[in-house]
Amino acid sequence: MSDKAKEEDKRINSPVYNDSEDVEETTLRPKYLKEFVGQDKLKENLSVFITASKQRNESLDHVFFSGPPGLGKTTLAGIIANEMGVQFRATSAPALEKPGDLAAILTSIGEKNIFFIDEIHRLKAVVEEMLYSAMEDFEIDVVIGQGPGARSIKIPIAPFTLVGATTKAGLVSSPLYSRFGITARLNFYTLKDIKRIIYRSAKILNVSIDEKSASLIAKCSRGTPRVANRLLRRMRDFAQVWGNGEINTAIVSRGLKSLEIDKAGLDRLDRDILKTIIQKYNGGPVGSETLAISIGEAVDTLEDVYEPYLIQIGYLKRTPRGRMATEHAYNHLGMDILKDREQGSLF
Ligand code: ADP
Repeated sequence: MSDKAKEEDKRINSPVYNDSEDVEETTLRPKYLKEFVGQDKLKENLSVFITASKQRNESLDHVFFSGPPGLGKTTLAGIIANEMGVQFRATSAPALEKPGDLAAILTSIGEKNIFFIDEIHRLKAVVEEMLYSAMEDFEIDVVIGQGPGARSIKIPIAPFTLVGATTKAGLVSSPLYSRFGITARLNFYTLKDIKRIIYRSAKILNVSIDEKSASLIAKCSRGTPRVANRLLRRMRDFAQVWGNGEINTAIVSRGLKSLEIDKAGLDRLDRDILKTIIQKYNGGPVGSETLAISIGEAVDTLEDVYEPYLIQIGYLKRTPRGRMATEHAYNHLGMDILKDREQGSLF
C-alpha cells in the first residue's frame, strides 16, 4: 500500500497499521510461537524448521509471508528472531531507495540474524538484484568509483535470513520468489481464534470482558487480529467513559453503533463500496480503478484492505471483467437484486 493510502486509512476497523498505535501494538504483539494464536499448520512447520536449523547451527532458510494486512506477518518475523535467539532488523521496501541502502544493512548484519523487509513487492529492480546474490551466495556486488573507471567488487556478508512480507504476492518477481526456501500464505482467522486473541489482549490490557462481548467483537473483526485488538481498545474506552470499565454487551452494541460498524463487521466505507457497485454500476462488473475513483479511495487501498474481506465473506466477486456484488451483498444491504438489475442505474 502506498504511504498516501496508508495515511488516508485511519478508519477504526482497518487492518492497516496505524503509527499512533505503535506502543500498544508492541505490547500486544506475541513474542514466541506458543503465544501466537491460530495458523496451526504454519506454526508447526516453522517450529520444525527453526529447531532443525538451530540443531545444525545454521541460519534459517529465507522465509516469505503473504496475505492481507494485520494477520501477523511482521509478528511472525519477530517471533522467528526470538525463537532463533538472534537479532531482528526490519525495514520496508520503499525505504531501500538505492543499492547502497541495502548494502549498508547487509554488510552490518550479524550471522543468522533476521532481516525483515515489509512490502517486498515494492523493491526497486536495482535493489532487488543485489538481494539475489545476497540471498543465494551471501555476497554482494558493490560498484566502486564512477564513470569508465568504475569497477565492481564482491563483498562477503554474514549468512543471514531474509523474511519478506507482502500483501501482493502476485507482484513479486519469480527470481526473487524462487530464492525463498520457506513460503507461507496467512489466511483470515477463525472466529474461535479471534476470540482467543481478544481474551489474550484483554488480559494484557487488564480489562474485563464477558464471553458474549468477546464474541460480538470477534464477529466484527474481519478475521484480522489487528482489527480485533483495535476494536477491543475502543471498547475499553467506551466502557471506561460510559460504564464502570468492564466491557459488556450493552457497551459493545452501543460502541459498534457509534463506530458505524454493522453486524457483519463492515464499516461505512465497505458499505459504500457495495452500494456503489449495486447502485451506480448495476451490481457490476466494474473495474477496480473506476470503483476506487467512485468511492474516493486509492486503488491499492481498495484492493489490499477492503476487497479481501468482502471477497472472503462472499459479498464481492472478482471476475476478469471487474468486481461484482453478490446476492449476499444485496441481502445484507436490504436491496432488491432483481429490481435494481431491471431498472438499471439508480443514479
Ligand atoms: P501484518 O504484518 O500481517 O500486517 P502484524 O504482524 O503487524 O500484521 O499483526 C498486527 C497485530 O495483530 C500485532 O500487533 C499483534 O498484536 C496482532 N496479532 C497478529 N497475529 C496474531 C496472532 N496470531 N496472535 C495474537 N496476536 C496477533
